[in-house]
Amino acid sequence: MKKKKNCLQIISQIITEILTGVAIGITVSLTICIIFILIYGGATPEKASGTMDLRREDGSLPTTQEELPEGIDGYYSPDKGLIVCFNPWTCLHEIGHKVDDEKREGLNDGIYFSKTKEWEAIVDYYRTELFISTGDPDQIEDRINDFPGIGDNSCDTTWDRCYGGYVELYACILEYSHGNPENMPEIFREFYDWERIWELEKEYPEIEEWKLVN
Ligand SMILES: [Zn+2]
Repeated sequence: MKKKKNCLQIISQIITEILTGVAIGITVSLTICIIFILIYGGATPEKASGTMDLRREDGSLPTTQEELPEGIDGYYSPDKGLIVCFNPWTCLHEIGHKVDDEKREGLNDGIYFSKTKEWEAIVDYYRTELFISTGDPDQIEDRINDFPGIGDNSCDTTWDRCYGGYVELYACILEYSHGNPENMPEIFREFYDWERIWELEKEYPEIEEWKLVN
């Protein structure tokens, strides 16, 4: 004759089943998480940027070209709003970063405009809908389309880092246009504060001289 289970045995059996269920649940979830991390974790592409720590050992900023890594001719420090540059096109490029960083009514709210989804969408729209290759990789249109670290373009690793991306492109479009809105594809012009750019350019007479011969 089969002995009937008493109440205590039934409760204990239920608890055991619940605990086993929870344990299996946790194991399955953890396994899925680990597989996910293994597949996607290591494959996340490094985000392209122009950021580089150029500070001296004491934390101060370099002021001479010799202190900068080879191929780097200047920088913009957002903490101080400071531009340091050693050739006219770099000065113009850094002015691009500065106006991008400066708060502008209706455009950015204290962050770089080029870090917004709006800028990314404008660039992507230009590349997918408006861009027509000039056939010359040195022309501004093709330089924008081929810019490293945007869309599917891989970043530039010349400086042992992932250079490029939408923030760098903002400054580079100004540089490529030689500070002239007419040289820029029309869609981008309204996103630059031209009055402010021309005001800042006055602090760097070498930009004006460079424009005359280029
Ligand atoms: Zn830059």
